[in-house]
Amino acid sequence: MSRTLAPDITDNEIRRLAALPLEELKAEARRVTEEWHGRGILIRGLIEYSNHCSCDCLYCGIRKSQTQAHRYRLDEETILTLVDQGLAHGMKTFVLQGGEDPEYSPERICRLVERIKSRSPECAVTLSSGIVPDAVYREFRNAGADRYLMRFETADPELHRYLRGGVTLKRRLRALDAIREAGLQVGSGFMTGLPGETEETLIRNILLSREINMDMGGIGPFIPHPDTPLAGAAQEPLERALKATALLRITLPWCHIPATTAAGTLEPDGREQMIASGANVLMPNISPVEVKKDYLLYPGKICLDESGFECVGCLSLRVKTVDRELCFDRGDALRLGT
Ligand code: SAH
Repeated sequence: MSRTLAPDITDNEIRRLAALPLEELKAEARRVTEEWHGRGILIRGLIEYSNHCSCDCLYCGIRKSQTQAHRYRLDEETILTLVDQGLAHGMKTFVLQGGEDPEYSPERICRLVERIKSRSPECAVTLSSGIVPDAVYREFRNAGADRYLMRFETADPELHRYLRGGVTLKRRLRALDAIREAGLQVGSGFMTGLPGETEETLIRNILLSREINMDMGGIGPFIPHPDTPLAGAAQEPLERALKATALLRITLPWCHIPATTAAGTLEPDGREQMIASGANVLMPNISPVEVKKDYLLYPGKICLDESGFECVGCLSLRVKTVDRELCFDRGDALRLGT
């Protein structure tokens, strides 16, 4: 039986929560997390399949104009080997994330998804390949993809257009509609601490997350990359991302929220702090160690010199410090009731 989960929290209630002291807000978020998700932290294997990108987002370390980046693209055989290793480690969700890489055409991605699913029909495949023509999301779904991740990045339309090299928020939201209409589970989210952002932006990000009614929501602190136009931007503290995580958890209790790598990069226990603010997912990066350093969206990214499979042991210890344990379920959207 599928459940219809629709957010009923009002704007006023969100604003009241946003004014609470952070520790109080986090405590409420933890209570909601335990009620809806228990103490398990879902594990997803992240494969960063290509850092070629035709977009020129000002914040991103693999933007088209970034000439310092060493570009790579994993071939299908390499990706399938990673999936096999992941399956052997008990992983049941694989997230394929990349830049908007024309070499990885929709057809090529579809064939890859089919091969993954034929190896292991019970695993879930999540794609995160940016904006494609609306009809292509349906092709991804038909090939067997289960979910799609695409953050809206910021709910401020002006800031969005400026930061994303002219691509509008409206365009991004249309793509998210097409993703849902294609029958994919919808992941979105935003960065915190972008230059030009205000407290009101944070509230707008939560209101837009509610409007999208997303199944999965990723929040990460923006970290300025030295080889981008935003090199000189200020680093905002992790607390902004923690506050956003707690607000999102209370607004969309069923949402799967990752404790993001960017949080772990900003502070050594950043991911644990995200979990203590309402996150319930971890995504160890199982890309080959040789390429991990090249998917450098922001500087200082953690765990670059070890395999993501080694990270699982480390993560199981880390989550214990915040009274959680790793969970190897598929972790579908709760509305599907699986
Ligand atoms: N091409 C895909 C994947 C983008 S990379 C897509 O368009 O969805 C994944 C996420 O990394 C982005 O959505 C963005 O929110 C985040 N990111 C990019 N640059 C960053 C930075 N400098 N600091 C923190 N997060 C960043």
